[in-house]
Amino acid sequence: MPDEVGLWQVIERKARDIFHRYGFEEIKVPILEKTELFVRTIGESTDIVEKEMYTFKDRNGASLAMRPEGTASVIRAYIENGLYVRGSVQRLYTIGPMFRHERPQKGRLRQFHQMSVEVLGSDRAMTDTEVMAMAWQLLQEIGLEANLEINSLGCAACRPSFKAKLQEFIKERLEHLCEDCQRRSVTNPLRVLDCKSDHCQEQYTSAPSIIEHLCGVCSTHFDEVKEALDLLGVPYSVNPSMVRGLDYYTRTAFELITTELGAQGAIGAGGRYDGLVKQLGGPDVPGIGFAMGIERLAMLLNQKNELESPPGLDLFLVTLGGAAYKKGFHLMQMLRSLGVRVMMDHEGRSMKNQMKQANKQKARFALILGDNELKNREVALKDMLSGEQEFVELATDFQNWAAAIKTKIK
Ligand SMILES: [Zn+2]
Ligand SMILES: [Zn+2]
Repeated sequence: MPDEVGLWQVIERKARDIFHRYGFEEIKVPILEKTELFVRTIGESTDIVEKEMYTFKDRNGASLAMRPEGTASVIRAYIENGLYVRGSVQRLYTIGPMFRHERPQKGRLRQFHQMSVEVLGSDRAMTDTEVMAMAWQLLQEIGLEANLEINSLGCAACRPSFKAKLQEFIKERLEHLCEDCQRRSVTNPLRVLDCKSDHCQEQYTSAPSIIEHLCGVCSTHFDEVKEALDLLGVPYSVNPSMVRGLDYYTRTAFELITTELGAQGAIGAGGRYDGLVKQLGGPDVPGIGFAMGIERLAMLLNQKNELESPPGLDLFLVTLGGAAYKKGFHLMQMLRSLGVRVMMDHEGRSMKNQMKQANKQKARFALILGDNELKNREVALKDMLSGEQEFVELATDFQNWAAAIKTKIK
């Protein structure tokens, strides 16, 4: 709704400003992709692909999906357009709608909007830290408190043995676990660790920790990430049971958990996905990224009421009489071409009602233009905050007239 859009604009403007400070470039990717893209990246046995993705057959019988997240599309575009030729490291972000058929509830929409940020071509720990610091800074600058939680999910060398150990652990207590966990113990064992059931979580308190099963390379990488976060003074905590919902993550995974009153859960999340580009037919380049939901941010900010509301009009033209209305209409066009936000009434309302309308549109000034004023060659400019009024002389041409008014009000 128009009332809320101002908040969205502030969030998006702030996000773009910060992303550009960190050397990121915007990319616009389509909403529709081949279904296969998401099945291959997100994973067949994830909730997104199993239950939530909107898919349909197009007129040629091809299976298409409305993107449930941004990373896969950005990588597909990166490969198709050979962006890796432009430079070995690409920093990209995209902002737009995503679609998931989830159970509707407050703050969860089937069309939601995300900022999706990706760095392709760097496997350095400093890159992980920079990306997390940027996400954290964005929340700081828009005025939201959040905790950064990090974990390492290991790599192709160390994750399989951890997975096997975990599977063994789950098998021993399978009858005590919820249906989802029982199913996932086969399809996607890592995911049982972030089960929402307290009963399951009780069982997992003694589960093996991935952190303790990292190979030397992953372990060093994770230490470097933590050290760099300390260096920048970005507060964080290690959460070994955070595994993220997507199959493609490797090594660093992170979530930003809001600590704002009455809110819970992640407002941003991401991680490293080193094998993904190659898996999709591109070069073997590593990657890391995160996504942040705009609705959640807007909702939290709205509760805090901390952002300034969108600006109103600079000027409202109040006209009385036919000749004044026509002059005013011409003047309005001139003012607009000079960059002034200006409106007038076309409905022939009374002066009192026009002043009301000026207030409603948060006009900073009102210019009162009647046929009498035209005769006397001066118009009244009213400061809507102080109530003070001054007279502006009518110039012979509209250009000069508009310029004179602009200097008075800006
Ligand atoms: Zn490893
Ligand atoms: Zn469970």
